[in-house]
Amino acid sequence: MTPKLQVRNLSYSYHSHSGETKALSHISFDVADGEFLAVVGPSGCGKSTLLSLLCGLLTPEEGSIVIDGIDRRDSPAVIGYMLQKDHLFEWRSILSNTALGLEIHGNVSPDDKKDLLSMLKTYGLEQFSASRPSELSGGMRQRAALIRTMALKPDILLLDEPFSALDYQTRLEVCDDISSIIRTRGKTAILVTHDLSEAISVADRILILGSRPGHVTGIMKIQFNQPYDRPLARRNAPDFSVYFNQLWKEIKEHD
Ligand code: ADP
Ligand code: MG
Repeated sequence: MTPKLQVRNLSYSYHSHSGETKALSHISFDVADGEFLAVVGPSGCGKSTLLSLLCGLLTPEEGSIVIDGIDRRDSPAVIGYMLQKDHLFEWRSILSNTALGLEIHGNVSPDDKKDLLSMLKTYGLEQFSASRPSELSGGMRQRAALIRTMALKPDILLLDEPFSALDYQTRLEVCDDISSIIRTRGKTAILVTHDLSEAISVADRILILGSRPGHVTGIMKIQFNQPYDRPLARRNAPDFSVYFNQLWKEIKEHD
């Protein structure tokens, strides 16, 4: 089967007055349809740059990005992008914030509106649909931001450290919620995180990047069976610390 996403030999450098910063060097990996890939690596190794390339905010200097067998530049695929900051607008209600992506792309059809209301209900935000973002907790705001992204029916979902602004307990809960939402909807997702435990708790595979410039040092398959197939449950699984030690060892070997 053709992978959902094929990244080949991807390199990128930033150019500024002070010179060139090589951010990524010859990155290659595949993501299968419906797969959840985590990307880990030290700060500054080019994780955010990789996501910006995948969604087309930056143009590769070298290499290719292919989605469903078609070059990204010609692909009709919709890429959803969720960031650390939720970027909800205070002057809009939660419902109208979740509709923002759709509004930017054109009209919000009655079906879209029904879908938004149904997601708000499913994800526990129904009674806040008329509220302002400041009335919601950090975790609820992230869920609203996810609904805004999901409303576009993305083929691939990119998440750039979406939980790192949350306190630890909320972070665990929201990560559990959000990854279940993504899995239930069968989305192909790429989550960037510097938190190794978070990566092990959500991913099917982990892509490990080394720094200066960012390059692939390894890829690790993660498999938990029932009843340990949700993030919070995985953290209690006997294998969790085995994976953690393996990942830590891989990272240290290339330090
Ligand atoms: P990460 O997300 O892994 O922390 P980034 O992708 O943000 O890493 O950055 C990778 C490298 O590129 C870093 O060395 C960073 O300083 C540099 N960089 C990021 N954005 C820019 C920019 N707009 N101009 C110049 N250098 C940048
Ligand atoms: Mg980053």
